Amino acid sequence: MAHILITSGPTRQYLDPVRYLTNASSGRMGAALAQAALEQGHQVTLVSGPVDVDYPRDARVIPVITTPEMMKVATDIFASADGLIGAAAPCDYMPKRVETSKLSKTGHGLHLELIETPDVVATLGASKKSNQWVVGFALETDDVRFRSIVKMSKKCCDMIVSNQADAMNSDSNSVEILYKDGRVLEQVDGPKLIVARAILRWIGQLLIKEPA
Ligand code: C5P
Repeated sequence: MAHILITSGPTRQYLDPVRYLTNASSGRMGAALAQAALEQGHQVTLVSGPVDVDYPRDARVIPVITTPEMMKVATDIFASADGLIGAAAPCDYMPKRVETSKLSKTGHGLHLELIETPDVVATLGASKKSNQWVVGFALETDDVRFRSIVKMSKKCCDMIVSNQADAMNSDSNSVEILYKDGRVLEQVDGPKLIVARAILRWIGQLLIKEPA
């Protein structure tokens, strides 16, 4: 049995104490993956941004707010995990400067300078040990399979799940599960739990090594 780390949900990047950048991720895919992994007898730690979804009771859940926080907690947990499934939609940009007081309207609009946040999957993918594995997600609108394969290689993933933009905040998903050797392992269309079970089946078959 494996210890699986799952990142889930959106993150927030604050501009000031009350305003933030985020996205529509609900955490439902992360919850379904946690459920499917527990069903297969694995130990699950979820590192999740702010969501309303109910995670399975048997999963350990560590809440975070920002992408740098998700990066830090995921790095700590990954050190003792067998693998990572990056199902989160971390906010990719953060304001270069975060105001400590609420910004007041000036009548001249607001110019924000944004910098990129760290990439959790790419960082852990690049640092993984030979007995660890990383599964990423890719959400593309054009050249979906090609861009997903490029992303899998760039982020040092062993497997990538390519899905559609309408998967966000939805109960169902339509995905292709791609493997690092270029194979399309499976196309699955249906409720997120059915999709999650298929992903976990392939992880069990190709990535989780049974002790000799
Ligand atoms: O580059 P893109 O956001 O399309 O990549 C998606 C994959 O990368 C997902 O697995 C997502 O969880 C992960 N990701 C991440 N940290 C970021 C951005 C994306 O782990 N800052």
